[in-house]
Amino acid sequence: MAIVRKAACPLNCWDSCGFQVTIENGRVTKVEGDPDHPITKGKICARGRMLEARTNSPERLMHPLKKVNGQFQEISWEQALDEIAAEMLRIKETYGSTAVLHSHDYANNGILKNLDQRFFNCYGGVTELYGSLCWGSGIEAQKWDFGNAWSHAPNDVLNSRNIIIWGRNVARTNMHFYEKLLEAKKHGSHLYVIDPLYNATAKLADQHISIKPGMDGILAAGIIKEILRLELEDKEFIEQYTHGFADLLQLVNSNSLEQISEMTEVPEEVITKLAYIYGDRPASTYMGLGMQRYENGGNTIRLIDALCAVSGNIGIDGGGANYANLQVGQSFAFDELTLAGRKQSFRQFSIMKQAEEILAAKDPEIKMIFVTCGNPLTQLPDTNVAEKAFSSAGTLVAVDQFMTDTAMLADYVLPAATAFEEEDIYYSSMYHHYVNYGPQLVPSPGEAKPDLWIWTQLADRLGFGADFEFTREEWLNMTLVPLAEKGYSLEALKEQHTLELPVNKIPWQDRKFNTRTGKFEFTSSLGEEKMGNGKLSLAVPKESKWRNPALAQNYPYSLLTIHPMRSNHSQNYHLLGDTVKVKVEIAANIADDRELKNGDFVRVWNNRGEVKGYISILPAAHPNTVNIDEGIWKKFGGSVNQLTSSTESDNGLGSTLYDCLVNLEKIE
Ligand code: SF4
Repeated sequence: MAIVRKAACPLNCWDSCGFQVTIENGRVTKVEGDPDHPITKGKICARGRMLEARTNSPERLMHPLKKVNGQFQEISWEQALDEIAAEMLRIKETYGSTAVLHSHDYANNGILKNLDQRFFNCYGGVTELYGSLCWGSGIEAQKWDFGNAWSHAPNDVLNSRNIIIWGRNVARTNMHFYEKLLEAKKHGSHLYVIDPLYNATAKLADQHISIKPGMDGILAAGIIKEILRLELEDKEFIEQYTHGFADLLQLVNSNSLEQISEMTEVPEEVITKLAYIYGDRPASTYMGLGMQRYENGGNTIRLIDALCAVSGNIGIDGGGANYANLQVGQSFAFDELTLAGRKQSFRQFSIMKQAEEILAAKDPEIKMIFVTCGNPLTQLPDTNVAEKAFSSAGTLVAVDQFMTDTAMLADYVLPAATAFEEEDIYYSSMYHHYVNYGPQLVPSPGEAKPDLWIWTQLADRLGFGADFEFTREEWLNMTLVPLAEKGYSLEALKEQHTLELPVNKIPWQDRKFNTRTGKFEFTSSLGEEKMGNGKLSLAVPKESKWRNPALAQNYPYSLLTIHPMRSNHSQNYHLLGDTVKVKVEIAANIADDRELKNGDFVRVWNNRGEVKGYISILPAAHPNTVNIDEGIWKKFGGSVNQLTSSTESDNGLGSTLYDCLVNLEKIE
């Protein structure tokens, strides 16, 4: 008999949807949206639906595997755990615990997935990764400007007179916000999309502003310049609630509008129009997670924040510089969960440069890499170096559900449960203010196990089993302690399946910013402290004709690596059938210049590597722009990261995956 139960999407996504899952004979047979979820209201995307195929796939890993003489062999859990624990003990005694590197990502956003950190902290502390391949530089930028990265509640967009969607294709990656935009348009809001690609969101807009990739910060500076010339700024806000305006003024006066137009490839009259749009308050800005993936990425987000501040669109209904929403994650307790104080020693590698750092590591060298919730072999920049690094450690352990590129390289592969096979809470929406509950719905197939079981077993063998002697209920309650003080309970969450968190719906309404000065900072005190300079600059991408004309001569096209439509990063490609192939999307001018047509097979290359794929022409994309979706596995043609660079962003906490010039040619 079929039963339907409420659950939650575990994927790293803006929307954090509520699910209704059908179970028949102990098997998940359908994943649909929960019509009662206050934000996602019964609608989910194909990536969420595909969790059914992911759970039932015949390719699921069912048993622990060990590589012997280059071949994987099934082994018992007993053997796998005993051997891994013995090797961890040997490494700790011989080289110290930091000879183990913990590589992790966000394949599943269950709160208990953070227990991997507790495990490695109790082990003694390992080599950890800092920074983020995705949004890190933007988060850091907003911490410099506002003191935190907070966004407005979803319904507030209905208060906006003008809505500027800047580099976020909500139709693909934030579908419930797309619905809100339709509603806002019906209410009379005007919608503007700034993006190098004419995407499905741009089609909804009153106007699409096509921009040269990586030049968003320069455009923001141009709009500020025009706002000031036209006296559209919010003088009161600037005088009373900001710090460093004189520095900003000096900066925007250092370039002419003509120069800014030439660099951004946005016409001067469009920049002037955008100044009027921002001056016609309330104007809300919703940024995406691509335009910060440049060497100038932190500065880009900071200039957009500055634009929102100068125009008086901070802390007001219908305004906001909406990038991330850390208020949601900040509502939970992590210190109790992860026990950071238990580390006896630790070392940190940059997440972007981890491959180079692994290869160069001394005192101690990296002897073991333990991979959780990630597939670094497709997701790290500069894949060829990443593969060399991950092959160099004595032992590579991967916890996964499928034989990903990383698992293929591993010495031990431990089969993990899917989200429907373990209870957790999903707390990390980047868009709305709700936390969702996900019960265990079905047992794991074969010998697949939840990560928590793996940590508990290994902890027992390594002598700190007592640190993992808690029930699921106790673990979940541990994370909810700060909310329990405000009247929230696990029981209520289980009963209602989702709860609205007690966070600010209109951040900074009280004009009290979490910066050193208590003001919005055009010149950042935190930036000054960390990097020796907190001033904004008119920085451009590292790989651009302005910074490196010779490179731009050899590699004339800007490469984007956007989020795929049907896969959450690299997670679903193997479930998409035989049709998966690398699609090389190009602007029309490239097709004309190189005499290419749809379906032509091409080689895309630069000084780091090459990718081969099939041409698809984007008639309205910004000239000289190429896109290859991220995450494609080796067996389907390989990751676009064979082309990308491991350079860090300007504030040290983000990637530069889009800061990438390439060339291409037709091949047979
Ligand atoms: S991937 Fe995002 S939009 Fe799709 S179902 Fe999951 S949370 Fe919802």
